[in-house]
Amino acid sequence: MRLLLVEDEKKVASFIKKGLEEEGHSVDWASDGKTGFFMGLDDVYDLVILDVNLPNKDGLTVLRELRSKKIITPILLLTVRATIEDKVIGLDTGADDYLTKPFAFQELLARIRALLRRRGEADSPILTVADLSLDPARRLVSRSDRKIDLTSKEFALLEYLMRNEERVVTRTMISEHVWDHSFDTETNVIDVYVNYLRKKIDANHESKLIHTVRGVGYVLKVV
Ligand code: CA
Repeated sequence: MRLLLVEDEKKVASFIKKGLEEEGHSVDWASDGKTGFFMGLDDVYDLVILDVNLPNKDGLTVLRELRSKKIITPILLLTVRATIEDKVIGLDTGADDYLTKPFAFQELLARIRALLRRRGEADSPILTVADLSLDPARRLVSRSDRKIDLTSKEFALLEYLMRNEERVVTRTMISEHVWDHSFDTETNVIDVYVNYLRKKIDANHESKLIHTVRGVGYVLKVV
């Protein structure tokens, strides 16, 4: 999953970013409210983690403005204030959940999982292409009813290809949706991951699903 973290305290931000990356997520970091707002307008994110006390634009304003721009990405608010009123204001403004600092990293992870699951169940039933199926909520992939183990990056890449079935996706599109801003476009890491996926998804099957479109990118389809 691709996450946006809006947090001005460098130490807290790098701790959260590092921890989430270890869980297989891609994390972009904005260190003030204004930057966070502009980055949050991009619909590539699966979740936004938003600190309330921010320079340039406070978190609640960022939240309100993103919602007024019809951005429906789930938003988890972080705050040191914990009064009932603050929580109610945050949730009424359009936050999906609320976490009070300091928090245990395990709790942050559990809440993120719950939010992503809720989103997954709401808008993504099981994806299928021919005999390949991917369950976003349960994180399961199978082909011909045989379970396939994927790393989190492979899973994210396959999910993106399947959501774009029969549509050619360029390396740029893949990098924007599956990797984070630090992605180096000069590397061949996408091709490497596509090859990993091919080995796991297509190698033992006569009908191949992942196809190269020379000079452009890739497409997942039945031919
Ligand atoms: Ca702060």
